[in-house]
Amino acid sequence: MTNRYRCSACGNRTRFDVVRSWRTRAFYHFTVGGDLQVEDEAVLDESVDEVSCRWCGTGASVSAIEDETDVALVGSEVGTPRAPDAAGEI
Ligand SMILES: [Zn+2]
Repeated sequence: MTNRYRCSACGNRTRFDVVRSWRTRAFYHFTVGGDLQVEDEAVLDESVDEVSCRWCGTGASVSAIEDETDVALVGSEVGTPRAPDAAGEI
């Protein structure tokens, strides 16, 4: 489950640079020659550290979108049609 985001400065809802941290557990399977094969990797914890607007270059105006109702509201606020942006992203 990943939050969607929007930048209130430029209206961007589709392009962001995201810094994430993952904590994982994995089975490290080495061959006798020392080659590593990682197996059964499981995500124990995941967090989003930073979200920046791709166009503004800063995360100052970026906020998470809670649900689609909010998305529709944002679309009307910035005066752009909703359909092209929302298509194929659900
Ligand atoms: Zn922006």
